[in-house]
Order: sequence, then C-alpha cells, then structure tokens
Amino acid sequence: MRHVAIVGSGPAGYYTAEACQKQFGDQVRVDIIDRLPVPYGLIRTGVAPDHQSIKGVSRRYEATALSDNVRFVGNVTVGEDVSIAELLNLYDAIVLATGAPADRTLGIPGDDLPGVVGSAAFVGWYNGHPDFADLAPVLSGPGAVIVGAGNVALDVARVLAKTGAEFTGSDIVGHALDLLDGATHERITILARRGPHQIAMTPKELGELGHLERAVPHVDPADLPPEAEDAALDPGLRKSVSHLRNFATLDLAKPITIEFDFYAMPIAIEGDGKVERVIVERTAIDAEGRANGTGETYVVPAALVVSCIGYRTPPIEGVPYDAKLGRFANDEGRIAPGLYAVGWARRGPTGTIGTNRPDGFMIAEQIAADTPDDYGKEGRAGLDMLLRDRNVDVVTFRDWQKIEAAETAAARDGSPREKFTSIDAMLAARGV
Ligand SMILES: Cc1cc2nc3c(=O)[nH]c(=O)nc-3n(C[C@H](O)[C@H](O)[C@H](O)COP(=O)(O)OP(=O)(O)OC[C@H]3O[C@@H](n4cnc5c(N)ncnc54)[C@H](O)[C@@H]3O)c2cc1C
Repeated sequence: MRHVAIVGSGPAGYYTAEACQKQFGDQVRVDIIDRLPVPYGLIRTGVAPDHQSIKGVSRRYEATALSDNVRFVGNVTVGEDVSIAELLNLYDAIVLATGAPADRTLGIPGDDLPGVVGSAAFVGWYNGHPDFADLAPVLSGPGAVIVGAGNVALDVARVLAKTGAEFTGSDIVGHALDLLDGATHERITILARRGPHQIAMTPKELGELGHLERAVPHVDPADLPPEAEDAALDPGLRKSVSHLRNFATLDLAKPITIEFDFYAMPIAIEGDGKVERVIVERTAIDAEGRANGTGETYVVPAALVVSCIGYRTPPIEGVPYDAKLGRFANDEGRIAPGLYAVGWARRGPTGTIGTNRPDGFMIAEQIAADTPDDYGKEGRAGLDMLLRDRNVDVVTFRDWQKIEAAETAAARDGSPREKFTSIDAMLAARGV
C-alpha cells in the first residue's frame, strides 16, 4: 500500500489524486490536505462567479473525492499545523499542489497606498475567500485602473462594470454584489505594457465586454497594428484582436467606459493617504519584443488600482524554493526524495484548469518509479493522531458537504449558493 499526501485541493491536487488512483488502483491511500475548510482552490475562489459552467468542473473532482481511497483533510495548513518533515515521516510521497496565491507587487512608488490591491485579493474578495472578506474596495471617484493584459484583468474589468442584475445566476458573494451594484466610477482603464498583438486575453472573455449593460469597451484606433499583420497571428489571438478592432469602432453612450490603454506602464501611484492618480509612461516595443519607457508620461485619475501581473507560491519551511521564479525548486515536479510539486506550485501561474491535468499523471508515474510498493509508513492514521494531539479542527469531505448544503440553502434567487466568507461560519455550518 502506498500512502500519498497531496497538499492543496485545487485542480492540480484533484487531478493528481485521480492519476494516483489510475496508477495504483486500490493499492493507494490519498489524503488531500487544504488550509481552507472548503475544497477546489481557485475553482471556488478564482474563476469568475459569472462563469458557472467553468466552475462546474468541481463535480468531476467530487467524484474523485467520494472514492473510498481518497480523503479530504480540510482546515489544516501545511507548514503551520503540520510540517513537511512530519508528513515525509508518515507518507511515501508528498505532492505540493498549493498553487500560487500571493500577488506579485507592482514595485513602483506608491504601490502600498490604500486603494492598491492585487488581483488575488480583489478576486478573492468577490469570490468569498475568507482571507479577503474585509477588502471593501473603493468603487467611486474618478475610476479604476487595472494593470495587466491577461484574462484576470478582463475578469476584474467585467466584474467592476456589471450591474447587480447582470450577476443573476452567478455565485458572487453578497457583500461584493451590493458594493458593485452601487459603483459610481465612470472609467475603468486597462494598462497594457505592450500592444494588441501581445495580449494574453482570450476571445470569449474579450467578447463579453462588448455586451455589458452599463459599460462599453474602447480601443484607440491608433494603437491597432495594420490589419494585414493579423494574418500572421495564431487563430485564437487573431480572434481576440478582431474584438479589439471592433471595440475601436463602437460609438455607444453608456455610463462606464472600459478603456484599453496599450503601450502604457504605471511608474508611480500618488495620492494623499490613498490612491488618487496613477502616473503612466508610454512605452515602445524594441526588436526583442520588450516594452521600454519612452519618457512620455501622463496621469490617469483613479481611486482603485488592481494589479493583475501574476502570482507567487509562498515558501513552506523545509521545501527548496526558487525565489526568482516564485515557486518550489523542482525538476519536472521532483523536489527531493518523496517530495513533488504539481500545478501552479510547480510551473508558476500559467495555463488553464486542464493544463494542470498532465502534471498529476506525470507525478503518479514518478511516484511509481521512485517508491517501492510498501514502505510500511503509517499514512493517514499517523496524521489523524498528530492533528488530534494538536487540537486541529479537521474538516472532512462529509463536513464540506454540509457546508455546501448550507450555502445552497442560503442562495439568493437565481444563484447557486451564497458562500460563507469566514472560516468560523464555515466550521459552524457543519453542525447544522
Ligand atoms: C482570477 C483567476 C481566474 C481564472 N479563471 C480561469 C478560467 O476561467 N478558466 C480556466 O481554465 N482557468 C482559470 N484560471 C486558472 C486556474 O484557476 C488554475 O490553472 C488552477 O486553479 C491552478 O490549480 P492549482 O491546483 O495549481 O492551484 P489552486 O487552484 O490555487 O489550489 C491550491 C490549493 O492549495 C491550498 N493551499 C495553499 N497553501 C496551502 C498550505 N500551506 N497548506 C494546505 N493547503 C494549502 C489552497 O487553499 C488551494 O485550495 C483562473 C485563475 C485565476 C487566478
């Protein structure tokens, strides 16, 4: 029997559990440990609340979670409640699937002013992550600036622009819905260092901006490369760029403008005790495709700045770490004997949900190659004893199902659930 502990219950964690089941059949016991009392990582706390069909992938993970040889061990933080060294004593293999939940900072003067938030915090706030329930962003004043040219920037722009009614059917949390519905900002500016041909925005997400009730996207036609050059792009990017070309022609009067500001990088954030303006420098692309400042600057008034420029994996004591790349140091997922990484904790924050699946299968094969059938380790019985001794309040999958049922019961009309936004409320819901 092999005992495997997977740390993190997001896509990478569940795909790894599924792969271990396929690899070892009933000769494996898998514990999926998560610091939150609720499973599924960014499926719950990252993927946009108005993209319910994407969140539906959690049903697949549920099937894995309900199998006899897989357990959810929630409300347990590895590195605090239990150490890596302790897990290595108990399990044949530890797989770190902790994602990349820490925002990269802008690294410019003023980036610590109240009103500057990272996308992990902002997205976590509207998705009910307990770490960010108290964020209360300012949604009035001159406007919001979003820094970044990927899909997270588009999610943030869309959520900031939608009316309350447009969230019907979503599971956006109540505190965010109330604030967003009353937002009075008139301009949402997306700052992209490079041009329309260098975006990492996909067509579906871009297209959605063209159909918002109170907001209209705008692109300066002067920023668009000659149309003939689109032919050299891959089909997905070409479609995205065609949306931008369409946005350059829209002439609709709506209360909010979503301004795509290309060739633009923030160089300072200013204000009297809070964000009031962003100083932006115009960029030009060099022969290597890098964006360099041109020295030309201008001011964009803003009460809120959301940086969507990537994430880092927080280090865990005892795990080799690559500080430059912001993730665990690993060679194709191998960190040290018996210790592996998958998903964003292995590769960094890139790719879609499905990109994490092959990681799981690669690691299951490595575990098969690296570990004998039976080391005689204690596995879950040992973990249970250790956590009991430390009075850790462990949440099981059954407990999660009770939490989920309570969230479903509390849903407002047309919404699948009203999420609990504090750990205490989640834990209390188990007793209902
Ligand atoms: C805002 C946003 C929107 C996205 N939208 C989409 C989309 O629409 N479609 C798409 O395909 N992809 C989307 N993605 C990408 C997708 O969410 C990721 O590819 C995927 O979630 C990465 O999976 P993961 O398991 O590596 O990490 P995560 O999903 O982050 O899971 C990590 C888990 O580890 C747990 N954890 C962390 N540290 C510890 C610890 N010390 N001890 C115990 N547990 C711990 C966390 O609580 C979490 O549950 C989006 C990403 C973001 C940020």
